[in-house]
Amino acid sequence: MSFSKLGLSDPILKAVSDLGYSSPTTIQKQAIPVILKGENLIAAAQTGTGKTAGFVLPILEMLSKGETQKKKRFRALILVPTRELAIQVNSSIVDYGKHLGLKSLAMYGGVDYQPQKQALVDGIDILVATPGRLIDLYGQHSVYFEEAEILVLDEADRMLDMGFIEDINKIIGRLPNNIQNLLFSATMSNPVRELARTAINDATEIAITKHSASKSNIKQWLVTVDKDKKSALLSHLLTENSWPQALIFIETKHGSAKLVAQLEKRGIAAEAFHSGRNQASRARVLEAFKDGSIKYLVATGVAARGIDIDDLPCVINYDLPYPADEYVHRIGRTGRAGAEGEAVSLVSRDNFKHLCMIESRLGQLIERRTIEGFVPSKEVPISILNYVPKHKRESNN
Ligand code: AMP
Repeated sequence: MSFSKLGLSDPILKAVSDLGYSSPTTIQKQAIPVILKGENLIAAAQTGTGKTAGFVLPILEMLSKGETQKKKRFRALILVPTRELAIQVNSSIVDYGKHLGLKSLAMYGGVDYQPQKQALVDGIDILVATPGRLIDLYGQHSVYFEEAEILVLDEADRMLDMGFIEDINKIIGRLPNNIQNLLFSATMSNPVRELARTAINDATEIAITKHSASKSNIKQWLVTVDKDKKSALLSHLLTENSWPQALIFIETKHGSAKLVAQLEKRGIAAEAFHSGRNQASRARVLEAFKDGSIKYLVATGVAARGIDIDDLPCVINYDLPYPADEYVHRIGRTGRAGAEGEAVSLVSRDNFKHLCMIESRLGQLIERRTIEGFVPSKEVPISILNYVPKHKRESNN
């Protein structure tokens, strides 16, 4: 199937073909016609499926037929969890809309208000915003919601994980009632369902069922190891495996800086990526990682949420993530677009419960490997696959 069958007009088809896309992805085939009909949509699809174009292309198509709004107003609002994602979605809008002349803006916290206020002065077509900064600017009367026509909640599960529910509800409460609502989420957890139920009436639902946990092109394995041997094991793995690049997830900012120093002592160059670094240096590090001049990036889970890097050969969980869905997100960064990927986790005895939750979520045990010289003195037991954490067991009674 080609893009021209989806009801998109020439300027958009040209932009898509300029980017070398030959045919729409599954989510695009399903979502674009629904959105063009003006229907509400709830879609389970994660990063790497082409979901961004799945909503940006039809929004551009619909907005290209109207007029840019007046002062401080927008027509489409895309809410995203992080500034990195705001920048990335806006850059997709610029790419896909380059023959259209619509105006868009990425709005996020941690930077000066003034340029964002200035960009809003003449009105824009598409606003891509993190919830907190949007609420701030709304409170300062720098942006008004009454001309909005479309709302997209992108990566809804992550926005909820990051505690944005109140802000999201506030925003939804201030938008006009009859706008078109679209929700995209990698996982359809209960909180996401609840948000969808309260925020979106009569939606068409689509699910790209094959979540990355079951993608056969991702090789998942774990190494059990004593906690105090993890950094030595990581150095060993990086030296022994010829991964061209790896994204290494760690729990804390402090831990990431320490790990980078430990790797450096062993002659392995790596960079830390966390929310303690300022925006400019994060952007610089990210660019260097994307262009391959940084080989190993040690990132905290929160800072890495908005990073989109395709075809990453390897993702390493230096610390196991919580909740289990986060594991699925992380490994989804590898094995994209049919490429082979590896997802490796370092697991020590104190991670046992997290491992149980992850393997229960996957519905399968992850292959275990032991590495000579790193056999743990504190063994990690085999998971219980239908594991329910204690606090949930109690609340269900
Ligand atoms: P997303 O899931 O939106 O993060 O997109 C993942 C990647 O797929 C991005 O780098 C897009 O540029 C790319 N992409 C999106 N749609 C297509 C398509 N139809 N053909 C090829 N690549 C695509």
